[in-house]
Amino acid sequence: MNHVELDKKHCWHPFTRQDLWTDDAHEPLMIERGEGAWLYDSEGNGYIDGNASIWTNIHGHQHPHITGAIKAQLDTIAHSSYLGFGHGLASELAGKLVSFFPETDLQRVFYSDDGSTAVECAMKMALQYRLQNGEPDRVEFVAFADGYHGDTLGAASLGGVEAFFSRFRKFGITVHFVRNLAELADLAHPERIAGVIIEPLVQGVNQIHVWPSGMLAELRAWTTEQGIHLILDEVMTGFGRTGTMFACQQEEVVPDFLCLAKGLTGGYLPMAATLVTETIYNGFLGGAERAFYYGHSYTANPLGCAAALASLEVFESEQTLIGVQEKAAYLAYKLSHLANENQAVKVVRRCGLVAGVELKSDKSGLGAEVCLKARNYQLLTRPIHNTIVIIPPLSITRDEIDIMVTAIDQAICEVC
Ligand SMILES: *Cc1c(COP(=O)(O)O)cnc(C)c1O
Repeated sequence: MNHVELDKKHCWHPFTRQDLWTDDAHEPLMIERGEGAWLYDSEGNGYIDGNASIWTNIHGHQHPHITGAIKAQLDTIAHSSYLGFGHGLASELAGKLVSFFPETDLQRVFYSDDGSTAVECAMKMALQYRLQNGEPDRVEFVAFADGYHGDTLGAASLGGVEAFFSRFRKFGITVHFVRNLAELADLAHPERIAGVIIEPLVQGVNQIHVWPSGMLAELRAWTTEQGIHLILDEVMTGFGRTGTMFACQQEEVVPDFLCLAKGLTGGYLPMAATLVTETIYNGFLGGAERAFYYGHSYTANPLGCAAALASLEVFESEQTLIGVQEKAAYLAYKLSHLANENQAVKVVRRCGLVAGVELKSDKSGLGAEVCLKARNYQLLTRPIHNTIVIIPPLSITRDEIDIMVTAIDQAICEVC
């Protein structure tokens, strides 16, 4: 059997209708290699990685500094347990991560494996903290409608995308969904809320929904006033995508929990971190029954730590954040032209190098057709409903932005 046959016979893809995937007529693209912002399929065709390999890649594929750091680490050790032992790279990485929040209480780092576990662990910490620190009735959460926080059962219970999560509600935790800050005032019992979770500045899975400016700072003020923890899910927005290292820095907000994953290793290896305040951390001290019994076998994986440290070094050596500001302005300019000139485009939403192009038509499957067509113009990305998502590696060049926007324009013209 060749690779496609083996795939169709034995593999099960995420978020995928397998009946369509395994259809004889479906020819799945097999990705073979990547370089910079480009991906190459098994036939040698090149495409711009328009969604940064599902929002993970930061500095491009095969970046010599990150690849080199992983290879060097392999020559010492690939993995050792973080349960019962420490290692230097994890210590260094923790120091680097909290250094983005100097002179604040956000100084403790708990490692896990992906965005879902970063959120899962924030939830369990938030609950256990209340249970053992005199507030056993504060065990409910508030989340925002249409938000996405991952797929493990806890993280999924915070998810507001009804199509994915509604069937699991009855197994989950009590979560109140609100659409905006005004609705927080309608909560009957704010004194029962342990934490509020939000994707700051922009909700990714909600078709790139950009929050009003100032909203995050207002939410921080409200949660502080109510004694509610603020959990920021920066799994997508973290590591420069919105123009600053973390989105919350744009409104000078420091959360109680900060969930990081996707871009943490530059998009090279699965790894996550939940940053938490010393105040919360201190609530777990003082006895065996107060400790946080949680962890995964690959916690603080040394290869992941090496990649993450290397990625942060590239942010400095390549002045990545300055580049993002310039590229975001250029992308905004290109997309405003697209919105003005392409009659099939309803609206463009954007925050830094995160953008969505929404089509006027709400015909089902149109966004997917546009993305399929865009492959002919050297662009790979995915739609969310009829919004074409643009989340490229931050290393993308102006010329590559041109190719990407032209591809979307052409594909929309052909399909609509
Ligand atoms: C992708 C994502 C997650 C889940 O991360 P995984 O690594 O896929 O588990 C959580 N929150 C947000 C905002 C995301 O974009």
